[in-house]
Amino acid sequence: MRRAFPEVSDDAFASWSWQVKNRIDDVEGLARVFELTDEEREGFARTRSVFRFGVTPYYAALADPRDPSCPIRRQIVPRPEEATVRIGELADPLGEVPREVVPNLVHRYPDRVLLLSTDRCPVYCRFCTRRRIVGRTERQSTRALLDEAFEYIAEHDEIREVIVSGGDALMLGDNQIDHMLERIRSAPHVDLVRIGTRMPVTCPMRVTPRLISVLSKYKPVYVMTHFNHVKECTAEAEAACAALIDAGVVVYNQTVLLRGINDDVESIAALNRRLVRMRVTPYYLHQCDMAEGIEHFRTPLATGLEIIDGLRGHMSGLAVPQFCVDVPGGLGKVTMLPEWVVAKDGRATTFRTYTGSSARYLDPEDVDSSKRGS
Ligand SMILES: *Cc1c(COP(=O)(O)O)cnc(C)c1O
Ligand code: SF4
Repeated sequence: MRRAFPEVSDDAFASWSWQVKNRIDDVEGLARVFELTDEEREGFARTRSVFRFGVTPYYAALADPRDPSCPIRRQIVPRPEEATVRIGELADPLGEVPREVVPNLVHRYPDRVLLLSTDRCPVYCRFCTRRRIVGRTERQSTRALLDEAFEYIAEHDEIREVIVSGGDALMLGDNQIDHMLERIRSAPHVDLVRIGTRMPVTCPMRVTPRLISVLSKYKPVYVMTHFNHVKECTAEAEAACAALIDAGVVVYNQTVLLRGINDDVESIAALNRRLVRMRVTPYYLHQCDMAEGIEHFRTPLATGLEIIDGLRGHMSGLAVPQFCVDVPGGLGKVTMLPEWVVAKDGRATTFRTYTGSSARYLDPEDVDSSKRGS
């Protein structure tokens, strides 16, 4: 896998600090790993001021050196389309700016807050919908800056859950993470911490024994990772997830539906089958947000519905995620299902099933008809 980096020792390649320090951050660096097409080179030229480029040697080495449509390659290499902003696309598609109650803390739902702990990521995904902030400065938030967020969490006892995201929350060092979780957990009303990170995918060597021992102190800790394609489920990625899970960290996955990368039943089925084998539970299949410059990644809503239709019943329900749309404006996430109900008539509801047959369910007779939602 790492034939593109023959001069690097195995120990260095397996160290996350080496991966982050040696991140490939320009077109020449990537061209040393594989030959770029003219279109890819144009993508670099046109997006220089649009969104930062960066990829770990580990993740770059997963890309197919010959096939520009490789699902890994599509996630990391800029394309010229990114420079085009379409009508309806938004810099802040999820309305996070107006809901930022103190610096770096978004309070959108009554009992959950989102902490933007860093703007850095090991890999800058070309479809990132938080591109307005991610990779902008590549400076860590200072402790003082996050202090206000910790105070807000302590003062609001309706907050039950803190989602530590970014950027990639695990770009922070172990001591910073320790300090952050300690501050969050010192609020007695916080039931759990959720950490959003792509590290198991883009830099699995980040999951070290030291990180595990830090996270283990603050259970329940949920790690929400972000696999988009089965090609990302390498032995290293699997070992990282296993180490977290064996230590009692709960690992869920969120996938973004991406045109030309994973937008068909077979891709999502293969990915999720593999994830459950890795003990990682598929949580959301996300509809791509309406962020600026990523229309070429977006699929129509019907595609997500067709995928769920193709999974439900055909494979383990454990491997079927919820199809989630974070509606523009930050008004909340909604989930969508294919239409399973084909008719309603009084007590009777007629369903179609995954095989295409139909069946009728009768509501109990001895309840008030106003309780039947028909
Ligand atoms: C997605 C999100 C959450 C969490 O939503 P769940 O449906 O609980 O996963 C919370 N706050 C913000 C701002 C979010 O974007
Ligand atoms: S890891 Fe997440 S926040 Fe970072 S670039 Fe990728 S999608 Fe954006």
